[in-house]
Amino acid sequence: MAFLFESFEGWKNYSTSKSMSLAAVVMEYERVQKGRTEKEIWDGLSTAWDVMKDAVRTGLSEDMTSRSGMINNGAKKVFNYPTPVLSKEFQNLISRALAAKEVNSCMGRIVAAPTAGASGIMPGVLYTLQEIHNIEDKKILEAMLISAGIALIMEQKASIAGAVGGCQAETGTAAAMGSGAIVHCLGGDTDQVFNAVAVTVQCMLGLVCDPVAGLVEVPCVVRNASAAAIANSSAQIALANVSSVIPVDEVIEAMGEIGASMETRYKETALGGLAATKTGQAIAKKVLIRDIEVLPDETTI
Ligand code: SF4
Repeated sequence: MAFLFESFEGWKNYSTSKSMSLAAVVMEYERVQKGRTEKEIWDGLSTAWDVMKDAVRTGLSEDMTSRSGMINNGAKKVFNYPTPVLSKEFQNLISRALAAKEVNSCMGRIVAAPTAGASGIMPGVLYTLQEIHNIEDKKILEAMLISAGIALIMEQKASIAGAVGGCQAETGTAAAMGSGAIVHCLGGDTDQVFNAVAVTVQCMLGLVCDPVAGLVEVPCVVRNASAAAIANSSAQIALANVSSVIPVDEVIEAMGEIGASMETRYKETALGGLAATKTGQAIAKKVLIRDIEVLPDETTI
């Protein structure tokens, strides 16, 4: 019987008692629960990693204008801007998270890690991490397994869907996955990986889901960039053994409690927050009129 990813404490205890790495516990879960071989799982991870890297490159090289017009090649503008705010590496990180998410908003191929709305975070984080630290692919794939374990627990204890738990559930989970992956790749132990998750989620708590016109574009794309930055700041904090104080399982429970008490208008309904602003409403009306205008051609009975 494989470990069922109900808590971080349980994951740590299981891995310690069985002398298995965190990644090996996820591998066992995937084999037993999904009936796949190890080779199939590694191949699947490798394909996902390739798709993530492609999404980054596509977003930085091809035209990324969404049908609504709200997304208009922002990643390339950030990537090419002559003055880095902190460093070229930070600028790259932000551009890459934006790029992969823009590909999603423009209906391109991405990995939903854990959801399409948050699909820029892991690519931005891992691509930049590999480039800076020269991490070999095998280690990245191992980190992706750990990220999957993190998402499994967050899904069980809280949610990974904006419609259920707000944006904290989507971009927050992706940032936690990215942060844990960074710490693993840079040699952190189990406590440091879990501390990175806890710190990350503490920084993302309460974030509402309020997509303008119900499209996963604004504020989704820029939130992928900020979540990628938080993943890195949290990893830096966790690697230095600065404690989250509140244990990771309790932090995720708090996320679940906040998500459950969040009003419906902040859960992907496009009725609150940015979606309800004057400009947000005007854009929604424009998008709707355009959709109605194209309807007769697209719905041939
Ligand atoms: S605002 Fe909503 S739709 Fe957009 S990324 Fe966040 S959870 Fe997803």
